[in-house]
Amino acid sequence: MEEKKVIVITGASSGIGEAIAKELASQGHPVVLGARRTDKLAQIKNEVEATGGQAAYRQVDVTSLEEVQALAQTALTEFGRIDVWINNAGLMPHSLLIDAKVDDWNRMIDVNLRGTLYGIAAAQPIFHEQNTGHLINLGSVASLYSHVGGAVYSATKWGVKAISESLREEEAQAGHNVRVTTIYPGAVQSELVSHMTDPARREASQQFYDQFAIPAERIATIVSQAIAMPADTALNDIVVRPINQVQ
Ligand code: NDP
Repeated sequence: MEEKKVIVITGASSGIGEAIAKELASQGHPVVLGARRTDKLAQIKNEVEATGGQAAYRQVDVTSLEEVQALAQTALTEFGRIDVWINNAGLMPHSLLIDAKVDDWNRMIDVNLRGTLYGIAAAQPIFHEQNTGHLINLGSVASLYSHVGGAVYSATKWGVKAISESLREEEAQAGHNVRVTTIYPGAVQSELVSHMTDPARREASQQFYDQFAIPAERIATIVSQAIAMPADTALNDIVVRPINQVQ
């Protein structure tokens, strides 16, 4: 490997975040893991270290700016810098608007949208001080389309797209050598569907995922490629789907 990069990943306790952590750690990059379930994070850190990698973790609820900033501090304390910050934590409890699942709406807004903003708020000043950095946000194909049952999830992921694009322009204008990458996946195997609160939608989504979803390692491969681009080049927007997923 040419260069080791310190990589912070939110939502690293399962699914896409876990796959990214393991893939990048296997390439020699120190990884800093954030999520609420510390038993899972400890297990992933042990697995990474058992195969010769470096990892640290911290319990983080991304709806708290202070906790997200503490995650950044953990990375600085353990490894001295942050090269890549990945805003990955998210949830997708689909429901019809008529069902007014306000708690689910608020959790998606808090985690998917506020959590992404808090990650940017924690990482951006450090990137400016270092005069380099890479912010990676997890959007979704739901950033590009909206369907029955997906109004609020899509609203948060459209928001992630909007924030990413403004951030990209602001960073390009500021000239601090900060890259911005947004990844828009289709169906990926993870715990995402299992946390849906509407039983009928969960079952329907599970059937779709069982048929189409691709392994989370595919997203880890894309992150790895985005990170490995020459420093003067940014992979900005990447849509990735199972080959037979229509939208
Ligand atoms: P998972 O449910 O497997 O992972 C979600 C992660 O987010 C977990 O590690 C969870 O950890 C963490 N998380 C949830 N709430 C919080 C919180 N309040 N604070 C900190 N961490 C939190 O799903 P995926 O891996 O699929 O999801 C990762 C991202 O990918 C999400 O943003 C999702 O929207 C996006 N995505 C996923 C797709 C898919 O098909 N799987 C498709 C498109 C986008 P913990 O519970 O321990 O806190």
